[in-house]
Amino acid sequence: MRYPETRPPAFTLTAGPVDAYPEVLRAMGTTVLYDYDPAFQAYYEAVARKAQKAMETDSPPVILQGEPVLGLEAAAASLIAKDDVVLNLASGVYGKGFGYWAARYAARVDEIEVAYDDCIDPEAVRAHLKAHPETKVVAVCHHDTPSGTLNDINAIGAVVAQAGALLIVDAVSSWGGMQTSPDACLAGIYVTGPNKCLGCPPGLTLAAVSDAAWAKMEANKDAPFASMLSFTDWKNAWKATEPFPFTPSVAEINGLGAALDRFLDEGPESVWARHALTAAATRDGVRAMGIDIWPAREEIASPTCTAVKMPDGIDAGPIIAEARARYGVSLSAGRGETLGKLIRIGHMGPTAQPMFAHVAVAALGGALAANGTKVEIGAGLAAVQARLDAEH
Ligand SMILES: *Cc1c(COP(=O)(O)O)cnc(C)c1O
Repeated sequence: MRYPETRPPAFTLTAGPVDAYPEVLRAMGTTVLYDYDPAFQAYYEAVARKAQKAMETDSPPVILQGEPVLGLEAAAASLIAKDDVVLNLASGVYGKGFGYWAARYAARVDEIEVAYDDCIDPEAVRAHLKAHPETKVVAVCHHDTPSGTLNDINAIGAVVAQAGALLIVDAVSSWGGMQTSPDACLAGIYVTGPNKCLGCPPGLTLAAVSDAAWAKMEANKDAPFASMLSFTDWKNAWKATEPFPFTPSVAEINGLGAALDRFLDEGPESVWARHALTAAATRDGVRAMGIDIWPAREEIASPTCTAVKMPDGIDAGPIIAEARARYGVSLSAGRGETLGKLIRIGHMGPTAQPMFAHVAVAALGGALAANGTKVEIGAGLAAVQARLDAEH
């Protein structure tokens, strides 16, 4: 049996976008209210307050009306002033990419870069900031998705705060799938979105902003205004009594409200636990088949995405195509430097279900075997099952 490319796959186990929760899709299909209707303004405020609760932060996050790349670019544009020195931390494609935005706005961008299967050492950040006390802004990606690796943002945040700089965090693909919050890492701007672990379609940014970051943005003469990239334009838009600078994405807000209800009803601990177990079972299964994971160490492997290292001489592209065609399972490729070298299995929102580890391991193993790689599929599935039963 083959799954034609012209039809949707049976399973979307990608690293984002992910399939949306049914209640999110239903909410998005409800009435599109006029944005100045009092019912919508009250709903928007309620959604912002739920987001604040879910993000465990002091004030409602800013909701920007575009998927989180907009929020990351807006953070660079709004926070970094022309004479600022920025330290960019790069342990993967997204971390590296932020440095290019920073370079548009900063006087100088320094960088600490490590191999893309590794993570940033907070002590290296401390040493750099000691040698360069002029540094105003530090940027880090929490979970660099194209590598499936985590940085210790709480430790990095403490170092950055001690040096008196402001931290920009890209937590797009970690927040909602594991314990992480803007306050725990002392972030200046903490950017995430509902389109990964919260199980919404791409379309919005959620960003928590500290008082110090607001003060810096408000004093920044070069920060955008009357612009979709402006943080300050949207600062008070969450209040039902305040105007929107531009039209918000009404249907996306309806979906976000449903996703937050679901997250809060299920309970963050339970949501994090199913992400962690799905990832752990997947890693066990992959290794038991005789295949390595990409992250250099188990401790830095993400609970929201498992990056699987391709055996020597095997290109990931045909394996991904085979898993899609043979089993109807859609998996993610790497990006940039990791393209071809790894395959990513997402565990985000609706696909963070431990039984999906079986689907992923079976599809990956079968596709590798079909391409002539020797893999122990049975051993892989037994290892998945053992992990699920051990944590029962
Ligand atoms: C998904 C993601 C983003 C948002 O960008 P996309 O256009 O959806 O790729 C930003 N940062 C990280 C780390 C992500 O995983």
